[in-house]
Amino acid sequence: MPQTYDFDLFTIGAGSGGVRASRIAAGYGAKVAVAEERYLGGTCVNVGCIPKKLLVYAAEFSEAFEDAAGFGWTCGQPSFDWRTLLANKDREIERLNGVYERLLTGAGAEVLRQRAQLLDAHTVAVDGRRLTARYILVATGSWPTLPSIPGVELAISSNQAFHLAELPARILIVGGGYIGVEFAGIFHGLGAQVTQVHRGSLFLRGFDDDLRVALAAEMRKRGIDLHFDTLVTSLERTADGISAVLSSGLRLEADLVMYATGRHPNSAGLGLEKAGVKLDRNSAIVVNEYSQTSVENIYAVGDVTNRRNLTPVAIAEGHAVADLLFGGRSRIIDHESVPSAVFSQPPLATVGLTESEARARYGTVEIYKSAFRPLKHTLSGRDERTLMKLVVEPRSGRVIGAHMLGPDAAEIIQGVAIALKCGATKAQFDATLGIHPTAAEEFVTMREKS
Ligand code: FAD
Repeated sequence: MPQTYDFDLFTIGAGSGGVRASRIAAGYGAKVAVAEERYLGGTCVNVGCIPKKLLVYAAEFSEAFEDAAGFGWTCGQPSFDWRTLLANKDREIERLNGVYERLLTGAGAEVLRQRAQLLDAHTVAVDGRRLTARYILVATGSWPTLPSIPGVELAISSNQAFHLAELPARILIVGGGYIGVEFAGIFHGLGAQVTQVHRGSLFLRGFDDDLRVALAAEMRKRGIDLHFDTLVTSLERTADGISAVLSSGLRLEADLVMYATGRHPNSAGLGLEKAGVKLDRNSAIVVNEYSQTSVENIYAVGDVTNRRNLTPVAIAEGHAVADLLFGGRSRIIDHESVPSAVFSQPPLATVGLTESEARARYGTVEIYKSAFRPLKHTLSGRDERTLMKLVVEPRSGRVIGAHMLGPDAAEIIQGVAIALKCGATKAQFDATLGIHPTAAEEFVTMREKS
């Protein structure tokens, strides 16, 4: 007799990947339960993409007020209230939590607001109960990593940055990934004095070097104090804040220190070893291209697998697992040409290979670049440069990388990403007419190789 289980699918974690997989599986008629210990919607909805972007919008107003003068506007002295912003942000997040709950229950999935743990390959412990499932999906996300230096308990991570009671006057951000860069821009735009420290020679490793250099210049022009090749060796409480000792010997005084030095997969204490699920040396769950773990009936998606740690990737992986297990459709998610953005001021966005990645892979590549002052700033007077760049593989003529630093970069690159997905050549970019006057039209009018 075939073995019977309480559920066809038990998902641990109702974040980006878990919600999508559970909802789609339930839609196929599977009996689904999803356990969530903290917040529905996971990191992205609660302490990630969404609240972050709302804070970015808030930060952008300060430049908009300044820029308005050149267009004839008199705005007076704008003032900003952090508590209003957070209250409005919290209300929106609460609404989204409800939306996610309804998405799941509406599809017929059972939502358990508890921590879940594996007991064996088919059994999960939730709230003192033992529940069995044919398939288990681990979608538990990731968590900020803070280094063990003296005084690190005085620092916060991005998790707390979304709930500060007040906006501090002096903020030190440690870490040069996209989260650190985005928060530097957020806090600066809202009026704080911001210093960012990064141990590497330049921040945003993995993004195109020309854009990294150009963004650092833009941030410095705005008054953000960037320290590269620098480590924070200790933090101490002082009479008027926190003192950070840097590897350069310098001491920095701040009211708030935020670490954005990376995240680790949420794989500890889940009972994965009891079930026989293999982890890599970074504690990420090892999966194959179908997101299947070393145990046949256990799958894992999203940040806990540490592939491309972005919401659309977790969603795509979760959807593919549901399709595979219950929809009779198998699909491999392409983790290579994933577009992504840094919501800095100005924003940066990218798809495909950077120039150095392309050179390493293909040897010779053609580079097209355009750097210009955005039309808007001819009147605003703002000293800001937009940079756009195409990387072309000369034998096929295909555009294999597109990069932009400038207003609306993320919105523009999303469209360009479709062209790259379709394998568009530089000749096809050139044959496309522009929309004038836009910055985006530069992507179809660049003719000079650099
Ligand atoms: P998560 O969304 O983290 O969900 C995991 C869920 O599992 C959590 O709700 C957690 O509480 C729950 N959980 C964990 N263990 C258990 C357990 N044992 N039992 C029950 N529940 C459990 N990505 C973008 O694409 N664009 C952005 O602009 C962007 N900005 C970001 C900004 C910040 C500050 C951060 C931190 C992240 C950002 N990300 C962004 C990344 C994005 O949030 C993650 O890649 C995405 O949320 C990963 O989804 P997931 O399903 O793997 O995990």
